[in-house]
Amino acid sequence: MEKMDSRSFLEEEFGEICLENNIRKFRSSQIFKWINQKGAHNWDEMRNIGKEDKETLSRVLFIHPLEIVREQRSQDGTRKFLFRLADGEKIETVLMDYDPLNSRDRHTICVSTQVGCPVGCSFCATGMDGFRRNLTAGEISGQVLDVMRRVQEEDPEFKVTNIVFMGMGEPFLNYDGVMKSIQILNSENGQNIGMRRMTISTSGVAPKIIQLAHDNPQVGLAVSLHSSSDEVRDSLVPMNRKYPLAVLMEACRKYTHMTNRRITFEVALSNQNASRKEAEQLVSLLKGMTVHVNLIPVNPVKGSTVKRPAKENTMMFKRVLEAGKIPVSIREEKGSDIDAACGQLRQRLECEGYESVNQS
Ligand code: SF4
Repeated sequence: MEKMDSRSFLEEEFGEICLENNIRKFRSSQIFKWINQKGAHNWDEMRNIGKEDKETLSRVLFIHPLEIVREQRSQDGTRKFLFRLADGEKIETVLMDYDPLNSRDRHTICVSTQVGCPVGCSFCATGMDGFRRNLTAGEISGQVLDVMRRVQEEDPEFKVTNIVFMGMGEPFLNYDGVMKSIQILNSENGQNIGMRRMTISTSGVAPKIIQLAHDNPQVGLAVSLHSSSDEVRDSLVPMNRKYPLAVLMEACRKYTHMTNRRITFEVALSNQNASRKEAEQLVSLLKGMTVHVNLIPVNPVKGSTVKRPAKENTMMFKRVLEAGKIPVSIREEKGSDIDAACGQLRQRLECEGYESVNQS
């Protein structure tokens, strides 16, 4: 029988596995805690579980911590991890603004949900590399566990408080894996991270926005909008060809109606969209909605024709939104010293923007 990933199970599922293997039920909470609260990397760490039970479980389950291939630290406290998965694929995870000497109560991790991404946004390095596969729930929650373990080596009190699903991949194209990872991370015997402290960022998969409002209205929503015109958005975010703005905005209105929650709209500003006309269109599009807009001046990605906008154009864009009574902020680059070689800057910028503005 093929072994299963111990990180991909809910506590009640551990209960069933214990039952099937003649292990007393109360062990399931203990094992779940070792795996998902303490982030155990092997069976030997589980000191209060008997040898026989551990041997039985290790015949059906494996524990595969993500391997840290590279860790980069920015002067501003951002730490970026390149992880290797069991099959050799690599993903990135970012811990924002961590400073042990000036500890904040909030520590946010930006997790990946897919290896590569099928959406192919024109400004995104991940999209340019194509799509490989979805991450499992355990690979998504495992990013949080393994960053936590790594940081706790230096700072034993360290805890992750917030999660943003904004790394590599389109979370809504891996809906089941993401939802299960949220349940695992939210578990009282796991990381116990509140649903309201988790946010999913989408390129605009409209039906899943409504499904999220049904399934889990506590989880926050961010939408990578980038343009209020279908013509421009078609070229920046190809998801728009499937779910054009009228469909997307209808789903967003339904989401707000069902959840009563504010949506963050992310607008990566470039030489292609930082115009007065675009800003005025954005005001018309969002008028009357409960939103916050993050403006993110993009950095050029190698191989892309998209360029950073002139500063005065960014400021003009912001002023037009303010005049239209749309709450707005500009997110500037951080951690450029660790991003020079990697091309994932866009994702981290969005994570940072969201973290600063919209977490409750
Ligand atoms: S921006 Fe997001 S949705 Fe678009 S290609 Fe990159 S990872 Fe995929």
